[in-house]
Amino acid sequence: MKKKKIIIVGNGFASLFFIQYFLLLPVLPVFVSWLYKLFSKHEITLIGNGQFIYFPSIPDFITGHRNREKITVDIEPYLKRRNIKFVDDMVTDIQDGGRTVITTKGRYSNDALFLGIGPAFLKNDIPGTVEYTYSPCSGIDDMERFLEKLNTLKQGTIYLGFKLNKEDGFVAGRGGQIYETACLLDYELKKRGVREHFNIHLFSPNIEVNEKGAITDLLLERNIILDYGYEPKEFIEGGMLDANGTFRQADIVLFSPGIVAPELAVKSCLPVSVGGHIDVDQYGQVKGLENVFSAGDCANHEHPTPWLPHQAHMAQLRSQAAAKNMREVLNKDEATHTYRKELSCILNMGNDGLWLHAAEDNKPPLWNLFPKRSKKLVTLKSAFEKLYLLYLKYL
Ligand SMILES: Cc1cc2nc3c(=O)[nH]c(=O)nc-3n(C[C@H](O)[C@H](O)[C@H](O)COP(=O)(O)OP(=O)(O)OC[C@H]3O[C@@H](n4cnc5c(N)ncnc54)[C@H](O)[C@@H]3O)c2cc1C
Repeated sequence: MKKKKIIIVGNGFASLFFIQYFLLLPVLPVFVSWLYKLFSKHEITLIGNGQFIYFPSIPDFITGHRNREKITVDIEPYLKRRNIKFVDDMVTDIQDGGRTVITTKGRYSNDALFLGIGPAFLKNDIPGTVEYTYSPCSGIDDMERFLEKLNTLKQGTIYLGFKLNKEDGFVAGRGGQIYETACLLDYELKKRGVREHFNIHLFSPNIEVNEKGAITDLLLERNIILDYGYEPKEFIEGGMLDANGTFRQADIVLFSPGIVAPELAVKSCLPVSVGGHIDVDQYGQVKGLENVFSAGDCANHEHPTPWLPHQAHMAQLRSQAAAKNMREVLNKDEATHTYRKELSCILNMGNDGLWLHAAEDNKPPLWNLFPKRSKKLVTLKSAFEKLYLLYLKYL
């Protein structure tokens, strides 16, 4: 029987979780790998840059507990163990209703396609974002540049902010990550004994001026100045401008804009939602196309809850459903698997942790085994990371 050709685009959380759930076994010992090679009904190819980045640990660069080497994994051995062909390339177009994938160097046909191409940020939303701001969400290079700049300062004013894209009815942006970065910055400056020489501001046009709650309390406990409700008109050299032209001085601005799907979605034959995501249904199927699935930060949600975020955790739940559904449609059945909607994230503050949680079925995280606020949560978050990276590297 001719093997079905499957193409996976991207090697981030969504794609790797997709592989984990699509294969019958998440771990493949060598002899099983050979059997798999002989008897598998699928020929799988992944197109990407080969470098997996554990994004949730980028804020911890501030404390020196993490660096580039610690959170980057060469993904080729993982794919090889699973008999998945790796193509080191960028996809530039998708044609024929998803059946043809074009890269900078080639052209690949498929029977089924999975897209886990991650987020793009609305960097043109506020002028000067690219030129004058840093962001932990833009990746390791940007975070390293921010730290270099921070290390040149003995005193100063640092603004951290985020803007959310809520056009698709859920939270497409990086609020929690900026809160975490602000708290870790406070922790590190205290550790260095220089905190009183710095003002730290947190701004977001998406948070009401009088907002109250656990996160606000944490920020106030740390003397972080809240500029809720504030949106700069423009970032400029040495600070930012208010809507009325008033200049706010800042030595460093960290800013994370709202999220949409990468340009590839708009340029190719993929449908795009009002809010700029790849438009998928509740099964992760790209609307209007056959055997094309997508999950993770690039994809929309059908019937979202208003608090639903883009998260690695959600990428896992969505990719799990998409993987099972792809198996079903390849067997000529209807897709039947939906996914649970849940926000679950541990806010690492260095010397303290907070579990941010919301679920559509109100179930608590990990059967309520852990306290909602405790330094132990920082250890737990780092244990999740270690286990996942060990799995990718060796299993
Ligand atoms: C600073 C920070 C902290 C975070 N903290 C948490 C947390 O505590 N908990 C949590 O659950 N989530 C957290 N997240 C969010 C989480 O990292 C993302 O939701 C997750 O990475 C999304 O996975 P993804 O696969 O959709 O995208 P990514 O992980 O970004 O992967 C996208 C992949 O697609 C590839 N790609 C893109 N375009 C192309 C193309 N044209 N051709 C080929 N390949 C392409 C990229 O190279 C990459 O491999 C955090 C994110 C950041 C930035």
